Amino acid sequence: MQIEDMVRAVQAKLGVGVDGRAGPETWGAIYKRIVDKASPVGIALTEVGDLANSRSEKIIERLHPRVRPYARALYFKAREHALTINIISGLRSYAEQDALYGQGRTRPGDIVTNARGGYSNHNFGIAFDIGLFERNQYLGESPMYKAVGALGVELGLEWGGNWKTIVDQPHFQLRPEWAADLSERQMLAGLRDRVAAGIDAYA
Ligand SMILES: [Zn+2]
Repeated sequence: MQIEDMVRAVQAKLGVGVDGRAGPETWGAIYKRIVDKASPVGIALTEVGDLANSRSEKIIERLHPRVRPYARALYFKAREHALTINIISGLRSYAEQDALYGQGRTRPGDIVTNARGGYSNHNFGIAFDIGLFERNQYLGESPMYKAVGALGVELGLEWGGNWKTIVDQPHFQLRPEWAADLSERQMLAGLRDRVAAGIDAYA
């Protein structure tokens, strides 16, 4: 039996999302089942069920349910490493994306995206952006974004800082299993098809 098959079997048994990759949702469920809540170890995992601060939760609650535990896990994991982050951007409707695309093109301002509505992972609730903060001050740029990126990758998220074309250090996304071997463009096409057909992004 391959490890991935074992993970799938465990996930099915635990009643969490079955994708063959053990992320925070799976580990949280395993932890609760076999380690016991009273145990002092496994801090990050016990906190997966906890909520982030209200600013971040406002964004998190509009993400796809599969992505929410990842966003919360990253929030707490960063704090364990003395990195204060908030989740500052998440789901954008196609219309909101189109409006953003117009900025610097049909409307004043700097160009901030090359994606029209339906062409950003944010349009499907599978992506979120973080902001780093120091003494309540937002840091637009900081070498610490790389540290948060590493923590996100450890959780099983894809990090925009690893992108070749447009590097996007605050960006994280959870790739659906069916898109594992697809390019970004192919995955987005698949996501648009799913929305049009009323199918869940991770189904
Ligand atoms: Zn983003």
